[in-house]
Amino acid sequence: MNLHTDYEALFSGPLPVSAPLAFAGFGITAAELGYDDYAGLDARGKIVAVFQHEPEEELETSRFAGRSPSSWSTVTYKAANARNHGAAGLLLLPDPHCERERTWKTDTQVEAFGLPVVKLSEEWSRRLLRSGPRTLSEIARAARDVLLEPFDIPNVNVSLSVEAIERYRTLRNVVGLVPGTTDDYVVVGAHYDHLGLGERKALAPENIGAIHNGADDNASGTAGLLFLASRAVRRKNGSGLVFIAFAGEELGLLGSSAYVSRPKIPLEKIRAMLNMDMIGRSDGSVYIGGVGTAAEFHDLLDGLKKETTLELKYAETPQAPSDHLSFAGEKIPVLFFFSGLHADYHQPSDDREKIDQVRARQILQVVESVIRRLVRKDQPVHFVETDTNTALLGAAAGSSVLGLQPEPSWEADGVLVADVKAATPAFEAGFRRGDILIGCDGKAVANRLDLIQQLTEQGRAPDTAHQILVVRGEELLALPLSTTE
Ligand SMILES: [Zn+2]
Ligand SMILES: [Zn+2]
Repeated sequence: MNLHTDYEALFSGPLPVSAPLAFAGFGITAAELGYDDYAGLDARGKIVAVFQHEPEEELETSRFAGRSPSSWSTVTYKAANARNHGAAGLLLLPDPHCERERTWKTDTQVEAFGLPVVKLSEEWSRRLLRSGPRTLSEIARAARDVLLEPFDIPNVNVSLSVEAIERYRTLRNVVGLVPGTTDDYVVVGAHYDHLGLGERKALAPENIGAIHNGADDNASGTAGLLFLASRAVRRKNGSGLVFIAFAGEELGLLGSSAYVSRPKIPLEKIRAMLNMDMIGRSDGSVYIGGVGTAAEFHDLLDGLKKETTLELKYAETPQAPSDHLSFAGEKIPVLFFFSGLHADYHQPSDDREKIDQVRARQILQVVESVIRRLVRKDQPVHFVETDTNTALLGAAAGSSVLGLQPEPSWEADGVLVADVKAATPAFEAGFRRGDILIGCDGKAVANRLDLIQQLTEQGRAPDTAHQILVVRGEELLALPLSTTE
């Protein structure tokens, strides 16, 4: 069998296993919904095959959170439930509801979980069940009719071995410092990493293996950073300047979250952070995010309009996934400069020929004017929480959310908690290091950003606590998490 076409390894177990096969519906045990795919099955020591996704998923009236995916549909939940039923391994069969061609997500890494979990192609799922009591199309039909029952396939023995090798790489931010005449600083940043050969984040699988140069994302911002730094050396009045080329942005804001978690300069001495991510493809305008994060930003930027021919497009919140979020999460005012998305985004075709250098230079003039004003002692800068809670947004970067510190390298479903700060709402609510958060108010939590989006969703009563579904070892817990302290 071939990796990526016939199967995908998702979780690893400590040892290779060889065991008889059993089928257990969607692999869900939801007592509170009166639903149990394992009812009547002894899964101990067996390799269990289950469908991906969940029953009734195309019904608005589904008891599993309507049409949106519920916590029970996550692979992390299914793996935990299989483990709790004593299964030796888990095989995932294609979702029986989905008629469209099923695409593979190939950018995932294998996480250690205590049992091997492997996703099978439709072809191999069919073969696996061929000599059992019921075929793949029979059980897929039963699944659509919500008439699934578990069964043993004793004549099929499956051998599974998934080994996870942990590899650590050292990434380095590159930092340049221009001291000023006061003890505070303005940080100017741009990430210098991109996708390499696209193994992890290529937008289309056929592009894996092709060099992704990332001329706009983010050679443009990095070149801009060097340009601004070279000119800044000649000035010395007012606040100092810290120029940071961040590493690991594409992997989840790793460089900037590492910087704010162990800052060389006390965070309260950082007046503001300006981030440039993709400034090379302007159509005559520049998008500036985070304008609402300081009381003074609107006036300051309005004052620049007469100096530039670019149209300045404001967004109040810093809600775009780049390095400024790590700083916004620490209650530092941020501005995010961005010339807009395009068809070459995260493609090998994001190349130098397409960069508009003249307009990139105009964007840099705007950034430089902002810097020149922000370093002045008589320019106040006061942080403002924007309507989408900026402290929560920082969690997308791996900084803490209500005391929860997500593990940025976790790539399976859900959010792995790397740490919980003492005496925080999350700690009081009972969250602990090692917990995996897989659901929020019944809905599936895909990843860190998804959790933040669900926690900051508008239009719900502010004081109600969210119910977070947590996998902790053998337990499945519902813990309250309140976003108001
Ligand atoms: Zn970028
Ligand atoms: Zn990118």
